[in-house]
Amino acid sequence: MYDVLVVGSANADLTVRVERRPGAGETVLGTDLVESAGGKGANQAAAAARLGGRTALLARVGGDAFGELLLSAQREAGTDVAPVIVDEAARTGTAMIIVSPDGDNSIVVSPGANAALTPRDVAAAKDVIAASSVVSLQLEIPMESVRAAAATAEDAGTRVVLNPSPAPETLAPELLAVADPLVVNEHEARQLSGLTDGKPGEWAHALRDKGARSVVVTLGGDGALVLDASGAHEVPGVKVRAVDTTGAGDAFTGALATRLARGDALPEAARFAVRVGAAAVTKPGAQPSYPTLEELDQLPG
Ligand code: ATP
Repeated sequence: MYDVLVVGSANADLTVRVERRPGAGETVLGTDLVESAGGKGANQAAAAARLGGRTALLARVGGDAFGELLLSAQREAGTDVAPVIVDEAARTGTAMIIVSPDGDNSIVVSPGANAALTPRDVAAAKDVIAASSVVSLQLEIPMESVRAAAATAEDAGTRVVLNPSPAPETLAPELLAVADPLVVNEHEARQLSGLTDGKPGEWAHALRDKGARSVVVTLGGDGALVLDASGAHEVPGVKVRAVDTTGAGDAFTGALATRLARGDALPEAARFAVRVGAAAVTKPGAQPSYPTLEELDQLPG
């Protein structure tokens, strides 16, 4: 039915740029508010859909204007939003983002409806999970719902792509055991491998030893490292002029999921995803920066 079903979060990103981050008890003036579609789940679905993957999103949004904004962004990307639950009793999740000139963003997330995505919602989508080639999961919804989605996918023989972000202290062994691959950035790789030093290859091996079936470590401008049954593969980065890296990791994961669903081997899918991540950093914002296949063709390299 779908190449990729994303089970995850949807947030309205509310962004203001400031000259200086306010201290405690202080007020500063910022630029006009920019509202855009975000949330890791919604971002990954938008990335997959824009690349032509048959994609659906299982998420909860509130019955408010932000929920509408998120739904229309998904429709525009080409995602099937039929599984999205509009929760009249909750507010849509929001991320309040303060961007200071040093580039160090300060973010407050109000999970809102995301916190109400329950294992029961996942159980109701059992047939959709079973009919999808890949289920893509992140950690911005309740952990028991992530576990339920992983277990349902595992039972149905649906491949699980797990992006454990935001990085938890530890990850339940049964979640790690279904990750094929576990997609982590450098910070998440260190945190979950327990190795504060070392190189990406060592983090990946440690994560595989802990139970992940395969591992992809994303390395920003340096590309990615893949570890699967065929061994370790370095995927070089694509040189671009980076304008805004927001949501690059989600672009990568959505792209990876579509290619795995279409039958690519993991290193091949990662080479494609590195190009998609690079394209995403050449434009501002998360979802608005995600390329179509035609736009990807125009990327140098
Ligand atoms: P973010 O939190 O910004 O969404 P992340 O920390 O999860 O990203 P990264 O490893 O920084 O993930 O980036 C993911 C992918 O995006 C990289 O593998 C690469 O393909 C691409 N990318 C990120 N930064 C750059 C850059 N400066 N130049 C080229 N490609 C980049």
